[in-house]
Amino acid sequence: MDPTDRAVIIGAGPAGLTAAHELLTRTNIKPIVLEKSCHMGGISRTVNYKGNRIDIGGHRFFSKSERVMQWWLKMLPLQASAGETERIQYHGMERDVPAGLAGLDAATRDNVMLLRPRKSRIYYLRRFFDYPITLTKDTLVKLGVVRTLRIGLSYIKSAMFPIRHERTLEQYLVNRFGRELFLTFFKSYTEKVWGVPCDRISAEWGAQRIKGLSAWGALRHAAKKAFGTGQKDGIAQRGTQTSLIEQFLYPKFGPGQMWEETARRIQEMGGEIRTGVRVDRVNTDGWRVTSVETEDSNGTRQTIFGDHFFSTAPIQELMRSFDVRPPAQVLEVSDGLVYRDFITVGLLVRSLKIHDQTPEGKKLIADNWIYIQEPDVKLGRLQIFNNWSPYMVADPSKVWLGLEYFCNESDPLWRMSDAEMSALAKEELSKIGIIDAGQVLDSVVLRMEKTYPAYFGTYDRFSEIREYVDRYENLFLIGRNGMHRYNNQDHSMLTAMIAVDNIAAGITDKSNLWDVNTEADYHEEKQSSKEPAAEAPSRTVSVS
Ligand SMILES: Cc1cc2nc3c(=O)[nH]c(=O)nc-3n(C[C@H](O)[C@H](O)[C@H](O)COP(=O)(O)OP(=O)(O)OC[C@H]3O[C@@H](n4cnc5c(N)ncnc54)[C@H](O)[C@@H]3O)c2cc1C
Repeated sequence: MDPTDRAVIIGAGPAGLTAAHELLTRTNIKPIVLEKSCHMGGISRTVNYKGNRIDIGGHRFFSKSERVMQWWLKMLPLQASAGETERIQYHGMERDVPAGLAGLDAATRDNVMLLRPRKSRIYYLRRFFDYPITLTKDTLVKLGVVRTLRIGLSYIKSAMFPIRHERTLEQYLVNRFGRELFLTFFKSYTEKVWGVPCDRISAEWGAQRIKGLSAWGALRHAAKKAFGTGQKDGIAQRGTQTSLIEQFLYPKFGPGQMWEETARRIQEMGGEIRTGVRVDRVNTDGWRVTSVETEDSNGTRQTIFGDHFFSTAPIQELMRSFDVRPPAQVLEVSDGLVYRDFITVGLLVRSLKIHDQTPEGKKLIADNWIYIQEPDVKLGRLQIFNNWSPYMVADPSKVWLGLEYFCNESDPLWRMSDAEMSALAKEELSKIGIIDAGQVLDSVVLRMEKTYPAYFGTYDRFSEIREYVDRYENLFLIGRNGMHRYNNQDHSMLTAMIAVDNIAAGITDKSNLWDVNTEADYHEEKQSSKEPAAEAPSRTVSVS
C-alpha cells in the first residue's frame, strides 16, 4: 500500500461512504467518491418535502455487530435519557452510554441519535394483529374459532411432517408457521413485495430475512415477556433473535442525517465526493482495474484513475461497463438478475380515523410501520413518520404518512402521474378505513429504482458472476446492489469495512466479504459468547 494510493468509490450510499471513511481513518489511501445523484445516503437518504421528512423504506438502525453499532454512535451520539443518567434502560436490557456522551438533548442538539420504541403490526380483515405474530388470546379472537383451529392443525402437521428439502420461500414459511398461518399473514404481503408467487422465491431469502422466527419462537417470546425473563445484554441485544427486538436507534432527522454527517467528515479529512457523475465505463489492464469513466448531465466525460476500486452500483450495470466484455454466459447471468422498484407516497393528514385510547384521551397510534395484508388494495406498507422521530414532521399536530408500493419499472403503477398516484394512495387508505380522504392536506410521490435485489431470475447462478469479478484483484463489490444481496445498512457497511481491512492487510481473497449476511450466520442464532457475524436488523418476513 503506497502512501500516494487513491481509491475510487462508485456510489455515496452507506457502503461507499463507509469505505471512504474507513480508508481515511485507517489507511493513507485517499478516497474519491463518485455519485450519480446529488444526494448522500443512496436508498438510506432522507427526503425533505416542505419540512416534512421522508425515510424511504423506514430505516431502523440496529445491528448485531458491535463494530457497526459503535461506528454509528461515534458519528451521531445517543441522546441523553430523561433522567440525565449515564445508564440507559431498554426494554428488558440496560446499557451504559459511552463516556462523555451523556447530556445530549435532542430538543437542543441536532446531531444526535434517538432511541425509539419499535411497534409494527399487520393490518388484515380491517383489524390490527401484532407483528411479530403473537399467538395470544387477542389474535385468536380476531381470527375466529374456525380459522384458529385450521391454523393450529396445519401448524401441528408442519411440525410433524416438515417439507424435507426447502427450496422455496413458501416451503420455508410453511415449515415454520404451518400452511394456514402462511396463507393468513405472509402470502399476500410477500407477493406484493416481490410481484411473484412465494413458490418462485428462493428459500435462501427466508433464511436471510426471517432469521429463526417461527410460530414456536413467537410463543416462547410471549411467554418470556409474560414472566419477565427477557435478555439483559449489550446495546446490540445480541442474545435476541432479530425479528423480536423492540427498540432501535434512529437519527433525529432520519437515516440521511447519518450519511450527510459521514460525507461532511470525509470531506473534512481530505476525501473527495463528486455528485452528479455517473460511472459508465470501467477500464482494465489484465486483471486490474486502472480507471473509470464518468458522465455528467451536460454530457461531459472524465476519466478517473486509481489503485483500488469499490463499486456499489447495481452489478448488472457494472458488468456491462467493463472495457473487456465478460464471457457471454456470465453476462447472461447478470442480465437475468431481477430487481424490484419502489414508490413512496408521502401524505400529510390532519388525523387518522383510528386511535390509541389512553387515560389522557385519544392518541396517534404508536406504530412505526404497518404491514397491509389486505388483498383488495395495492398498498404494501404504511409508515407513520411521527413515530420514527417527532422531528421528521414540520407540524407535530399533523400526521405524516408514507404509503409504500412495490412494483417493476415496466408496471402501469410506475408510469402513473404523480397526481394519479397520490389519488390512488388517498383512495386506498380511506377504503381500508385508516383515513377520511377529506383529511388529506398535501402529498408527494417518490420513485426509487432497484431497491430490492431479487433472489430469483438468474440469481441461482450468481456464483458465475462472483467468480469472474473477484479475479479483478483491486476491485471490491460492496453493499446491497453492488453484491446483489438483500443487505441492510449494517451489512452494507460491514462489507465496506472488511474490504478496507483486506486492503490494509494485503489480503486479496474476497471470500470474507461474501460471508457477510449469509445463511451461515443466520444459523448461529444464540450460539455463543463470541461476537456473532452481522445479521439483519430486525426484518420480518414482510420485508422492509
Ligand atoms: C424499503 C427499504 C427498507 C429498508 N429498511 C432498512 C432498515 O430498516 N435498516 C437498515 O439498516 N437498512 C434498511 N434498508 C436497506 C438499506 O437501504 C440498504 O442496505 C443501504 O442503503 C445499501 O447501501 P449501499 O451503499 O449498498 O447502496 P445504496 O443505498 O443503493 O447506494 C448506492 C449509491 O450508488 C449510486 N450509484 C449507483 N450506480 C452508480 C453509478 N453508475 N455511478 C455513480 N453512482 C452510482 C446511487 O445513486 C446510490 O447513491 C432498507 C431498504 C429498503 C429498500
